[in-house]
Amino acid sequence: MKDLTAIEQAPRDALRGLQLERLRRAVAWVEERVPLYRDRLRQAGVRAEDLRSLDDLRRLPFTVKADFRDTYPFGLLAVPMDEVIRLHASSGTTGKPIVVAYTRGDLETWSEVMARTLMAGGVGPDDVVHNAYGYGLFTGGLGFHYGAERVGAAVIPMSGGFTERQLTALTDFRSTVLCSTPSYALHLAEALEEAGIASKDLALRVGFFGAEPWTEGMRDALESRLNIMALNIYGLSEVIGPGVSVECPERKGMHVAEDHFLPEIVDPTTLEPLPPGATGELVLTTLTKKALPVLRYRTRDLTAIEPEPCACGRTLVRIRRIMARTDDMLIIRGVNVYPSQIEHVLMQVAGVEPHYLLVVRREGALDTLEVQVEARAGVAEAGPEAMRGLAAQVRRRIHEVIGLGADVTVVPPKTIERSQGKAKRVQDLRRQGGTS
Ligand code: ADP
Ligand code: ZN
Repeated sequence: MKDLTAIEQAPRDALRGLQLERLRRAVAWVEERVPLYRDRLRQAGVRAEDLRSLDDLRRLPFTVKADFRDTYPFGLLAVPMDEVIRLHASSGTTGKPIVVAYTRGDLETWSEVMARTLMAGGVGPDDVVHNAYGYGLFTGGLGFHYGAERVGAAVIPMSGGFTERQLTALTDFRSTVLCSTPSYALHLAEALEEAGIASKDLALRVGFFGAEPWTEGMRDALESRLNIMALNIYGLSEVIGPGVSVECPERKGMHVAEDHFLPEIVDPTTLEPLPPGATGELVLTTLTKKALPVLRYRTRDLTAIEPEPCACGRTLVRIRRIMARTDDMLIIRGVNVYPSQIEHVLMQVAGVEPHYLLVVRREGALDTLEVQVEARAGVAEAGPEAMRGLAAQVRRRIHEVIGLGADVTVVPPKTIERSQGKAKRVQDLRRQGGTS
């Protein structure tokens, strides 16, 4: 099959054999070089040579985000600094940044998996890749950059922001591929509409969107407004950056680059492995990384392994759309709710735009959730009565679908702050005390 590398369509048995061999090597590597792993493996009573099958993976210790913080900045490195040729840091969405490091070989691996990511959307030497992921410490920008160079496309290193300039580049350079967060892509779509540039007059064909949770409704919006195929991509700094998994044009879950990253789904409370199809926390083990390998890294991202084989010919397993990260769960008067569930409801209500902010407050002993969402231009023009009617409708839908009473405020278009990278969907005022 064209565009598929051999490994992506390898028989499962061959792939599993390769994974086991690489797993043994990865465990031996950290045993020898990283004190934290040496101690934990000793405590768990496992050595690399004890791993007889992939099921033995469950005997290995987990790694968590706090392990990075406790050994900040370089305690988990498995090579001396003279072998490191790049540092990145996570965007720190949920606290202090985490520093990650790459050897020359690691950057090779990263470029390879990113090239495969782009090839999943049919990207090749003829393409012009408009890369609006942030360049800098964030892994998104340079990750896509090296992948695009590897496939021989012409890459435009836009980074985020300067929306005017983005429109010029999209139009004048005839970009065929858009890489950005979904929230920023929506922002670009709006800016194009405002500038009177029709998407059918652009050359865009495919978009690679990730780095934050998004929904099928958002996919529909991006596909129709930008006149593209929108593919979901997933990755995280602690593991490598983007490149861990990507959708194929079937768009039914993201194929994991399993020859480099071994996925498991575990129950986030008991940490017991869950079967295919069951939703739980994604755990990833790096099989080939040298500077910063991780064993059973708990991503805190909730998803499931898709059990069905895929029609595209790839034999690599798929993970479903990331539902949420466990840290994002809000508990409002006993109801557990994720921002993506609210987005899902909002996408079904005609008259609102998927620009929203969730504000959590404590009033007395009770937590309250306010959902601020933007009206479509037409509704706003129809006046305050129409806006209130829409708010009541959204409120009703949230109650029906999630079982939660939320205060809904429909605000005028363009009043919710736009992000140039990852969108900030939640403002939690509870920790600041008072009701503000
Ligand atoms: P940070 O944890 O500071 O945000 P990263 O920049 O490494 O650091 O982001 C990785 C995280 O971004 C993932 O763990 C996941 O929560 C989120 N993410 C990345 N891609 C997607 C995606 N396609 N869908 C949902 N969430 C995603
Ligand atoms: Zn597929």
